[in-house]
Amino acid sequence: MTRVLVCCAWPYANGPIHVGHVAGSLLPADIFVRFNRLVGNEAIMVSGSDMHGAPITVSADKQKVSPETIANKYHAINSKAIADLGISFDLYTSTHTRNHEQVTQDVFSRLLEKGHLERKSTPQFFCDNCKRFLPDRYVEGTCPHCGYERARGDQCDSCGKDLNAEELIGAKCQICGSSPELRETEHFFLKLTDFTGDLLKYVEANPHWRSHVRAFTINVLKEGLVDRPITRDISWGVPVPVSGFENKRIYVWFEAVIGYLSATKEWAKLEEKPDEWQKFWTDPVCRSYYFLGKDNIVFHTIIWPAILLGYGGLNLPYDVPANQYMTLEGQKFSKSMGVSIDVPDMLTKFKPDVIRYYLAANMPEMKDSEFSWDDLAARVNNELVATYGNFLHRALSFTFKNFGAIPARGVLDDRDNAAITRIAIAESEARAAFSACEFRRTLKAVMDLAQFGNQYFDSVAPWSLVGTDKARCGTVLHVSLLICKALAVMAYPFMPFSSESVWKQLRMDGSIDEVGWKGIELPLKEGEKLEKPVPQFAKIEAARGGDFQQFAALNLKIGKVVDVQPHPNADKLYLMKVDIGKPITMVSGLKDFYTPEQLKTKTLIVVTNLEPATIRGVKSEGMLLAAEADGKLALLAPEKDLPAGAQIASGMEPGQKQVSFKEFQKLEMRAGTAVEGEPVRLDLGSREVQCAVEKPVPGTKYAAFVSGEKAMVIFGPGGVKIVFDSEIAAGARIR
Ligand SMILES: [Zn+2]
Ligand SMILES: [Zn+2]
Repeated sequence: MTRVLVCCAWPYANGPIHVGHVAGSLLPADIFVRFNRLVGNEAIMVSGSDMHGAPITVSADKQKVSPETIANKYHAINSKAIADLGISFDLYTSTHTRNHEQVTQDVFSRLLEKGHLERKSTPQFFCDNCKRFLPDRYVEGTCPHCGYERARGDQCDSCGKDLNAEELIGAKCQICGSSPELRETEHFFLKLTDFTGDLLKYVEANPHWRSHVRAFTINVLKEGLVDRPITRDISWGVPVPVSGFENKRIYVWFEAVIGYLSATKEWAKLEEKPDEWQKFWTDPVCRSYYFLGKDNIVFHTIIWPAILLGYGGLNLPYDVPANQYMTLEGQKFSKSMGVSIDVPDMLTKFKPDVIRYYLAANMPEMKDSEFSWDDLAARVNNELVATYGNFLHRALSFTFKNFGAIPARGVLDDRDNAAITRIAIAESEARAAFSACEFRRTLKAVMDLAQFGNQYFDSVAPWSLVGTDKARCGTVLHVSLLICKALAVMAYPFMPFSSESVWKQLRMDGSIDEVGWKGIELPLKEGEKLEKPVPQFAKIEAARGGDFQQFAALNLKIGKVVDVQPHPNADKLYLMKVDIGKPITMVSGLKDFYTPEQLKTKTLIVVTNLEPATIRGVKSEGMLLAAEADGKLALLAPEKDLPAGAQIASGMEPGQKQVSFKEFQKLEMRAGTAVEGEPVRLDLGSREVQCAVEKPVPGTKYAAFVSGEKAMVIFGPGGVKIVFDSEIAAGARIR
């Protein structure tokens, strides 16, 4: 038996977690800890919400509420989503606890005592307009390493290098956009340079790291470490335990990693074994694993080990199996750009095991991977349903129908023995791959066994035996059910909910959680009555194309109104300047409905590829979408704010060619109210149609494409739905 501490990067509590977080760190950590518990290792998994980061204060400033309000709100939302997804933390806490504050201040004081902190005066950006010092994250500019134009003062999202704000070229205040000036302020610096030699030795001693993690770390060390400030001028965070620093706080990058230690201590206290944390931190027998995305590597292979070396007596990370990025339909996940799929949203559409399966099968372990709705549907339908679910269901339901109980295992022939051997091979493959944190490889071993199960079932053909040799038929079904049982246990770290359900259907005692990995070899209970099996997974509809392919001709984008003037040659028309990622001019007939002032704040949905029309002498380069009924008009608008130019593609490839007005008029788009049901329906006033793909919230009015008896709500990046800026009747035609 070995001991394992599983650490998972701390999500910022400034928004709902998205599928990128799940694929990058939460899910691999959970798969790994579940496997370790199954094989009987003493394993705990801890993390929590990072409540002190600048992203929180940035969101709080924008929404004009306290950072604590934002942090508490998303901590609650994310804790629930994490639990619903089956991520089995032993403790999911937050950095805003008294315990974390104490542990952090203890680490700070120890490093100060041992001479690893240095107090010095440093230039810090001060915004004269905002009258405040700007934390690095509040400064934006061009990365000096790769030239990325929107690098933040703490780190470049493009090349992954950590930065100091004053290295940025053309620095701007992120709050007001003005150019800040450098002023002197006093701070504590962590003397990272003290640790270069020890860190190099540490990396050398861990050859099992993923090649990209190792290469990145060695590269940073070779380029030379620089001492970094660990306090800053801000009022939100852990107080600095030194007098004269009452108005400053400990920097979040220094403090959040200490959360792994403080969370373990908090867990031990909650278990009422307050010294138990030492088993995971001071006993070198324990191996600690850190799961995170590649932008976080430097904090876990350099900074956290340096802090631990400075503190002394605590275990360094044993492995940091960092993942690459999962992108969304080709774009990097980014809340601010509206490129995101929130987990709480996704859980309203899919079973947790379906989400877990797709994200594990597509996990960005060695290179970036892409999330797409098409791929999700394809993998779920062709692999999870057609291979895995199909084998489980045909074996169980054929047995139930013809025997009603677990049939006796008679004499095994060569084919049956080969199947038993095949289970053993899959078991050892899966165990090795799990242990090496290679989860795609593990999942493949599981799916290969399911595929083998189907082949075995076809070759022994129980349907041809049931009338002629019932004992032999029972034997081959018994062997099939043994494969089912092995699959349930091996797939448990990936799909715990369906695995436990299969375990119950097989009438095994207890749960997989209790029985563990050895459940693979346990015998079935012959003669035990079966209940009518239920299929574990159902097919899902592909998001792209299908009935709605005709709408893919359109190229719809978010437009933000910049200016509105009366049309020089027409009383009823406006000339509008609209930003669709580039400025365009549009002629619109909105004069009866809106004043120019009202329009100036609007976010519109613009058809950007209609053939340009010249209206009363002015060329109109786009057309806004509006719904009209009963003499009223409502503009289409995104449910959440999206940036100008964002594509509203509804999961389809947006049209690249020009569309004539005549073609456009053939497309039916309407306002519709979602109606509760399975599937959800859309009320179009005079009729109700079935809703495809996205599941809208009942009672809400959406803009939808309509094709025959089906409708699809129009949505933009991240599943943001399109709604209306004012009340409009269901069924109103959109044009
Ligand atoms: Zn860069
Ligand atoms: Zn400013």
